[in-house]
Amino acid sequence: MAFSAEPAPGEEKAESEEEPFPATAAAGGGAGDAGELSHEEWRRWGTSSPLPGAVAAVVRELLEMEAAAGEKMRFGGVGSKLKGDFKDVEDKKHRAVYETLADSDQKLQYFSARQIGCRLLGSRGYLCQKCWLPAEDCMCANVFPCNLWRGMKFWLYMHPKDFLRQNNTGKLLWQVFGIQAAQLCLFGIQEHEDIMWDAFQRSGKGKISFLYPNKSTIPKSVKDLKFDGLSLSSDLHDMSSQDEPFNFILLDGTWSNSAALYRRLKERWTAIWGDEDIPCISLSTLSASVMHKLRPQPAWDRTCTAAAAAGLLWELNLRPELSTLEFEKQAEAVECSLDILLDALTTRRVRLGRSITRKQRHNRNCI
Ligand SMILES: [Zn+2]
Repeated sequence: MAFSAEPAPGEEKAESEEEPFPATAAAGGGAGDAGELSHEEWRRWGTSSPLPGAVAAVVRELLEMEAAAGEKMRFGGVGSKLKGDFKDVEDKKHRAVYETLADSDQKLQYFSARQIGCRLLGSRGYLCQKCWLPAEDCMCANVFPCNLWRGMKFWLYMHPKDFLRQNNTGKLLWQVFGIQAAQLCLFGIQEHEDIMWDAFQRSGKGKISFLYPNKSTIPKSVKDLKFDGLSLSSDLHDMSSQDEPFNFILLDGTWSNSAALYRRLKERWTAIWGDEDIPCISLSTLSASVMHKLRPQPAWDRTCTAAAAAGLLWELNLRPELSTLEFEKQAEAVECSLDILLDALTTRRVRLGRSITRKQRHNRNCI
């Protein structure tokens, strides 16, 4: 697939509202982890996957460069970019690596690993590994965990630029439902993508829905899913596994990045099933999320990822045959976590003297 490492125009604007890392954030900063990335550290950020080889390699290279330069790495500004003289050295090196990569998929994988490696090093000792907020604003104690109905599973297909973002809302889903029921899959990270697609192949194509407005085919909604008394599927005649959960995939990134996420999903879907028609569903009861007040154009249909998940659970709750599955409780748990995140971010912004509302022109679509 065609891929550009350059940010899309809308993306720059979105990132400009991201809170910069503090000048003190450094690779080995703070208590706890330092040096090379371990499997344990990797998993504490919200994933059960093994440490991806490409991310480990990027971190190792950065630390080696730091040792050779005899200068501490510093991260700051938007996107946790490298700072100081070190930045120029690293920049030259990463561009040289990039040039050697022949195909666009390798370039994409390298881009993703580098983004994630820099974000990880810049967040060490600064962000809480569970809620991705600065330690002093950690909201973990306020979040109530809840069991997701075991007949379904969420996948957060996340753009690397959303990884470890304080105002990301996809992370709320595994804070509430746990990292198995709401699983992180990072775009361009081979280990993550293979785990997700292996799960899809186990479940069968009838147990997969992407929450993405697909304009090219007949729009489908939650109402079109079939329920046989035990499990959900998009087609009861399909040879899907009864034991596997139904997979709902949420695209977690800015609006411009979501199109790239979708293209990559569609490409792999077609490669596996030889079918151009990727199963998308849209929600019919969407409302602008409370997060919209703090976040520029959000990922999906003017709502944020967690609000989309809550909307999906509300729509499942509306189906009488599913009424015993407690979707109301699950939807409320997500909405409650969203309120807690909004409060934590607002409190932080007020304390730091930042504006708590977005510019008026962004607010016109809010309810
Ligand atoms: Zn926390």
